[in-house]
Amino acid sequence: MLNNAVIVGGGTAGWMTASYLKAAFGDRMDITLVESGNIGAVGVGEATFSDIRHFFEFLGLKEKDWMPACNATYKLAVRFENWREKGHYFYHPFEQMRSVNGFPLTDWWLKQGPTDRFDKDCFVMASVIDAGLSPRHLDGTLIDQPFDEGADEMQGLTMSEHQGKTQFPYAYQFEAALLAKYLTTYSVERGVKHIVDDVREVSLDDRGWITGVRTGEHGDLTGDLFIDCTGFRGLLLNQALEEPFVSYQDTLPNDSAVALQVPMDMERRGILPCTTATAQDAGWIWTIPLTGRVGTGYVYAKDYLSPEEAERTLREFVGPSAADVEANHIRMRIGRSRNSWVKNCVAIGLSSGFVEPLESTGIFFIHHAIEQLVKNFPSADWNSMHRDLYNSAVSHVMDGVREFLVLHYVAAKRNDTQYWRDTKTRKIPDSLAERIEKWKVQLPDSETVYPYYHGLPPYSYMCVLLGMGGIDLKPSPALALTDGVAAQLEFEQIRKKTQRLTEVLPKAYDYFTRLR
Ligand code: FAD
Repeated sequence: MLNNAVIVGGGTAGWMTASYLKAAFGDRMDITLVESGNIGAVGVGEATFSDIRHFFEFLGLKEKDWMPACNATYKLAVRFENWREKGHYFYHPFEQMRSVNGFPLTDWWLKQGPTDRFDKDCFVMASVIDAGLSPRHLDGTLIDQPFDEGADEMQGLTMSEHQGKTQFPYAYQFEAALLAKYLTTYSVERGVKHIVDDVREVSLDDRGWITGVRTGEHGDLTGDLFIDCTGFRGLLLNQALEEPFVSYQDTLPNDSAVALQVPMDMERRGILPCTTATAQDAGWIWTIPLTGRVGTGYVYAKDYLSPEEAERTLREFVGPSAADVEANHIRMRIGRSRNSWVKNCVAIGLSSGFVEPLESTGIFFIHHAIEQLVKNFPSADWNSMHRDLYNSAVSHVMDGVREFLVLHYVAAKRNDTQYWRDTKTRKIPDSLAERIEKWKVQLPDSETVYPYYHGLPPYSYMCVLLGMGGIDLKPSPALALTDGVAAQLEFEQIRKKTQRLTEVLPKAYDYFTRLR
C-alpha cells in the first residue's frame, strides 16, 4: 500500500492537494508539504469556475466558515467588455440553458430574439449581475433551491457529475494568499507535516524514480509518491524527470501579465458579482472584486506590447487608487506537460499546465487533477493503467479548454489593432476549425463540442459565439416550421423572474457584510 506522499510547493495547488488528500484519506495517508520561504507563490489565481463549490463541500467547509477569512465574493459569470466593439459587453453566466421543443433557447433567440442582448433574454443572471446582487437572500437561502451545498443529493459527486444539477450554479472569487493560509491551518490540524525550506536537489534511483528530495535545513524527505506543486518551475517533473512541456503558444500567444492588488472601499464601489475581462489593444484586463480590494491585471503578448506599456495601460485603467500599489510582472508558461504523471511523480497546478486565465480555469485544473489522482490512486505495484487514465483525463481537460479559449479570439469581432487582426489569421487547432464550420449551421451541442470532459458545457460555447459577434450564426431551419409560442412564453417567464429577483435579492456587498 502506498501511503506516504511528499508535496513540494505551498501555493494554491500545494495546499488544495494536501487538504483534499487529507479529507479523502485521513490518517491512512502520511503527507508532508515542503514550501520555500524564499520563492513566493504566484498569488494571482483569484477567480474560479462553478465546480469549485464541490471542493469546499468535499472538505466539509461551509461558506460561512471560509469565505470571510478569504475576503471571498460570489462569481455568477464572466463579463466580456469590448471584445465585439468598444462599449459592448455581455455575460457568460453560470446558468443552465433552457430549451424549448428540443431546441436551446438561444436558437429561438436567433430566430426571434426579443432584443439584441441574448444574455439578458435567455438568462436571468445577466440582470442580477448588472444590479450587483447576491445569489443568496440575506438569510442564506439560494435564489432557487433545488439543491443547496449541504444537500444529500450533491454530497460525494465528482465535478462532472455535479454539472447540470442546479439551475443557478455559481463560483467564488477570493484572495489566493488567504486561501492558502486557510488551507494550511485546515491541513496541519488534520496531520499534514508542514516544512518551510528550499528543495535543493531531487534524488533518483537507477530507474529514474524519485527516492527523495534534499532540503536546505531539514535533510532528505522520502516518500512513495511525490507531488510537484512548484509552479511554472516544474522542479520535479520537468527539471528532475525531464518531462517535456508542450507549448500552446502557437494558438494562444499571450505569455505575460502584470497584476495589481488595489485596496478599495467596496461599500462605495459596490460588488459586481462576476469577473470582468476587458479587451485591450494587445490582450485583456481582468477585474476581480473581493470584499476589501480589487484584483486586476493585464494579460498580453510580449510580441505586441512591452511590460512598461502594459503596466502604464493597467494603471490608467484602474485610476488613482492604484498609484501606490506595486506591480507584479509575471511571465506565463502556456501549455501543458506532455504527461503530468511520470513514474512516481505527479505534477499539479502550474507545473502540470496552464492556459491564460480568460475563463479562470487554473484552479479548476488543480481541482480536477486532485480528483483524478484520488480516483486513479496508484497501487503498490504501480499498475501503469492508473497513470495512463490520469494522464489522458488531465491532458483532455487542458486541450479542451485551450480550444475553448482560442474560440474567444477567433469569434471576437474586434479588429482594430494588429493584435486583433492577427487573431483572425493565426493557426487554430484543426478540430476547432471543423467545429466552427458545424456551429455556423447548428449551435454547439454535446455532439459537436470537444468530446472529452473539460468542464465546459455546450451552452458556454453558445454564449461565446453569440456574445463575441464575429461569426455569423443561423437559427435551425426547423424553427421556421415549428410553433414559437412556447419560446415566447419562456422569454416572458425569464423577464418576469428577472424582475422579481432584482426586486428581492440583496446587494452582494450587504450579503457579505452580514456573512462577516
Ligand atoms: P505557485 O503559486 O507558483 O506556487 C509554487 C510553490 O512552489 C510556492 O509555494 C513556492 O515556494 C514553491 N517552490 C518553488 N520552488 C521550490 C523549491 N525549490 N523548494 C520548495 N518550494 C518551492 N487561476 C484561476 O483559477 N483563476 C484566475 O483568475 C487565475 N488568474 C491567473 C492570472 C495569472 C496572471 C496567472 C499567471 C495565473 C492565474 N491563475 C488563475 C492560475 C493560478 O494562479 C494557479 O493555478 C494557482 O495559483 C496555482 O499555482 P501553483 O500553486 O501551481 O504555483
